[in-house]
Amino acid sequence: MSELHPIMTTYGRFPVAFTRGAGCRLWDEDGREYLDFLSGIGVNNLGHCPPKVVAAIREQAGTLIHTSNLYRIPLQEKLAARLVATGFADQVFFCNSGAEANEAAIKLTRKAMRDRGHPGRFEIITACNGFHGRTLATLSATAQEKVQRGFEPLMPGFRYVHYDDPAAVEKAISPYTAGILVEPIQGESGVRIPDPGYLAALRAIADRHGLLLILDEVQTGMGRTGKFWCHQWSGITPDILTVAKGLASGVPMGACLATAEVAASFTPGTHASTFGGNPLACAAALATLETLLDDGVLAQVVARGEYLARRLHALADEHEMILATRNMGLMAAVELNVPAEEVNAMCLNRGLLLSCQMGTTLRMLPPLIVTEEEIDQGLAILGSVLTDQF
Ligand SMILES: *Cc1c(COP(=O)(O)O)cnc(C)c1O
Repeated sequence: MSELHPIMTTYGRFPVAFTRGAGCRLWDEDGREYLDFLSGIGVNNLGHCPPKVVAAIREQAGTLIHTSNLYRIPLQEKLAARLVATGFADQVFFCNSGAEANEAAIKLTRKAMRDRGHPGRFEIITACNGFHGRTLATLSATAQEKVQRGFEPLMPGFRYVHYDDPAAVEKAISPYTAGILVEPIQGESGVRIPDPGYLAALRAIADRHGLLLILDEVQTGMGRTGKFWCHQWSGITPDILTVAKGLASGVPMGACLATAEVAASFTPGTHASTFGGNPLACAAALATLETLLDDGVLAQVVARGEYLARRLHALADEHEMILATRNMGLMAAVELNVPAEEVNAMCLNRGLLLSCQMGTTLRMLPPLIVTEEEIDQGLAILGSVLTDQF
């Protein structure tokens, strides 16, 4: 009998441990090199250990790591102002993860409806196969059996409808409805890209019924699709938006952004986080935003995404087990008619990190700094696996 592992087994892990990373590359304990086409897990949008972010973390760690939110935090104010400048929002609440950002959004939605004189309106409509986190409220918002099973009773206040179906949202509205919460592209369920008019249709429905539109941009935000926020492709704005993964390049951080009217419902004492927006995370996020926006990384994502799409199409032409490919910027998926789990494991063996979603989908979230050569190298590994093994 082997000794009991000291870590709870919530993850099915590959027996590989990475010790070092730089750009799109990782090295394991034996010095083997890998291409990381998953960016951690949608986190390292600037690649591993981006120099400006590393320098900012080093500098801040030696100056001040944590002070309480009972006091002003100038770096937090600076970061909030930068995030507000990226789009629709007027105010920001900082936390430490995507789930926490969505928790804040759910609480804010309920409170805002109360403050508008509708205390009975607490229900939020979410989409089947969406993903919003693993806390009790956010798993209740996540309409996936495999996420919810065993943790019942779920938190009341969510109604599920098919994704990319505005008519279903309209039909689900009741006197209890407070808002609509969706991802602009469903990430965990395999990069599901809705019709280009989907978000605009949801905005119109929300306006017609006095509901809040909440967008979960935890995975699609921070430049992943070629605009800073994915919803900026659609020409509409939400009332509330959540972000996390890429926000601080791997230092845990999440944020909930909102319009002034909605954000006014968070008054002193209504919501809080011990670590949220601490100086270390803010320094990492500020350096991340600076690199993304001022150093021109975001400006290249669309072109890299188009290159990736062309190469994926070429790969699909060569391999009949590829049924379809799709992408928006550098958020991409390959649909297979063979088990994606096996393909994924073999890619890892040959030095390429991808992820398997929903059984038959390979997901790619390469760092936004990926080069055309690296795209070629990564897809050559995937191609060799498909040629040799299937
Ligand atoms: C990853 C993810 C979350 C959860 O983020 P955590 O930081 O793991 O809590 C929520 N929503 C979306 C869209 C995500 O991709």
